Amino acid sequence: MDDLTLDGNAIGGMMMELFGTEMTTAVVTCDNCGAVSQVAELAVYRPGLGTVVRCRACDAVLMALVRIRDVTCVDLQGLASLT
Ligand SMILES: [Zn+2]
Repeated sequence: MDDLTLDGNAIGGMMMELFGTEMTTAVVTCDNCGAVSQVAELAVYRPGLGTVVRCRACDAVLMALVRIRDVTCVDLQGLASLT
């Protein structure tokens, strides 16, 4: 893990805002490799314009969160499930 890589706790606040509940303990399934993990365990990257959340097992993009003005847009297409 380098300095630019955070864990899922870094997006806890953002997820709370989006889903209205604590999501760091939610369980996600990677659509690419089937790995199951908690949101708090995922690899979170913060490039300039948005936040990218990757599977720790296969590095596939699970979620992308982009904040535009006060609205957070979320792309969950890499997730097979989020429970
Ligand atoms: Zn994966």
